[in-house]
Amino acid sequence: MTDTLVTDYLTSWQVPAERSALVRRPVAHWIDGAPLISGAPIAVTEPSTGGRLTETFEAGAEIVDRAVASARRAFDGAWSALRPLDRQTLILKLADSLEAHQDELAFLESVDVGKPRSQALAIDIGGAIDCLRYFAGWATKISGRTGDMAAYDKHFLGLTLRQPVGVVAAIAPWNFPLQTLIWKIGAAFAAGCAVVAKPSEVTPVSTLRLAELIAEAGFPSGVFNVVNGTGAVTGAALVGHPGVNKVSFTGSTATGLRVGEAALHNMTRLTLELGGKSPALVFADSDVDAVVEGLYNGIYFNAGQVCDATSRAIVDARLYDQVRERLVRLASSVKVLPGLDPGSDMGPMVSDTHRTKVMSYVERAQGDGLPFALDRSQVHNRGHFVGPVIVEEVPTTHPVWREEIFGPVLALSRADGAEDVLRQARDTRYGLGAAIYSRNIGRVLAAARAIDAGTIYVNGHGFLDPSFPFGGLGMSGFGKDMGAEQMEAYLETKTLLVSGIELGLAG
Ligand code: NAD
Repeated sequence: MTDTLVTDYLTSWQVPAERSALVRRPVAHWIDGAPLISGAPIAVTEPSTGGRLTETFEAGAEIVDRAVASARRAFDGAWSALRPLDRQTLILKLADSLEAHQDELAFLESVDVGKPRSQALAIDIGGAIDCLRYFAGWATKISGRTGDMAAYDKHFLGLTLRQPVGVVAAIAPWNFPLQTLIWKIGAAFAAGCAVVAKPSEVTPVSTLRLAELIAEAGFPSGVFNVVNGTGAVTGAALVGHPGVNKVSFTGSTATGLRVGEAALHNMTRLTLELGGKSPALVFADSDVDAVVEGLYNGIYFNAGQVCDATSRAIVDARLYDQVRERLVRLASSVKVLPGLDPGSDMGPMVSDTHRTKVMSYVERAQGDGLPFALDRSQVHNRGHFVGPVIVEEVPTTHPVWREEIFGPVLALSRADGAEDVLRQARDTRYGLGAAIYSRNIGRVLAAARAIDAGTIYVNGHGFLDPSFPFGGLGMSGFGKDMGAEQMEAYLETKTLLVSGIELGLAG
């Protein structure tokens, strides 16, 4: 790991000096409206070269304490004093600012995560802007209810107050660093909460830039704070902090279980957006063009590093050979290249550790003699690349069928009719996503009711929308990001039961 690898990479794509400096500056924490460098350095690598990109720092308990105190001050003071219309205006200003900086943000995300720059621009940054604009409107739509009581007469009245929960710990993974965080802070800001964010130590770069843009947009200091560091030290200190009122966590199921235990210790509210092993159900009446495109997006977008990737495709035997042949052809032509290369369809794995993990599944399948319809795993012998892989006839006890790989590895399975498609799809403890391919709406609805999955795409994959909730069932966690449903997680309800109301117009 040398610095020159990254320098050569940035130079080879004519990155201006100012942009290079931005992506390579040390990644500070952000507390009370200002950057702070403190704690042991943590190296951040660039995925296509494996070179050292920059460094961030490990926030210990004392820094986490300062960040939570900063959020609390803002929540008790300047932030709560604003009118809902002012919060709405600020969130919209932030969305405009992200739009004005979209090229720069897409560049940061592309270099830090390794993803194609065009995809970072359209999905990561475009999705974040849409999400903010959607949630801005919620700031002025929060209301309780007033009503007659069921067991009392008109001398009584019931009403509810909706209030922000307080300080929110927002913990993000490395696959969509900025977008995942925006999914959390859009609703948090709309509700009137203050935030302490912890990005992944693997991809911290865009979060610091976001903190600066939030400050420039005019949010009061302390409404948004950032603590960097590993999960074991910084993350654990944050989720176990008694000053945090809600934890919104996105990450793996293994970590989610630990986070849940720590949060419950303080009775902290909790949303857990966790991993998955999502199925694609391909029924015999499907449109094969839509199937091939959907299966491709479902497993190869973001190099398979997508929580709701459809990593198990179960195809009715009547379409199997056709789908297999066309999918292999498409995945064979994919250009697996560094994110800054405009020709890149698919970038590398985010880190050496993650590449090793993904390859361990490929090697296990090879060692077990499973048939591969496609094996481009060793696509390059540099950086952290793993190319598209399709494994067939995977036994349902095999780790490639059961476990989340989080890479471009598809288990393609033949099914004997519609019942078998459904039976195989249901064979998982996860419940994050699914995709159903069929032209029969009755069959689609029946399958959707029968599978345990929080988000189900029909005849495609990946078209999430900020106005509809996203979140898992089973071992994929609980709670929702996005949609009206997400607002519930950031609001407390207080009930007022009023008595002694004098009735009548006299007096
Ligand atoms: P991870 O669980 O290793 O880490 C996620 C975040 O949690 C990181 O910021 C990490 O530093 C932090 N963390 C780790 N240990 C912690 C602890 N004890 N306390 C508090 N924080 C801790 O996950 P990852 O490898 O960064 O991301 C990949 C995983 O995220 C995959 O399983 C993927 O499915 C999941 N994911 C889920 C969604 C969703 O919406 N359901 C979206 C994206 C990714």
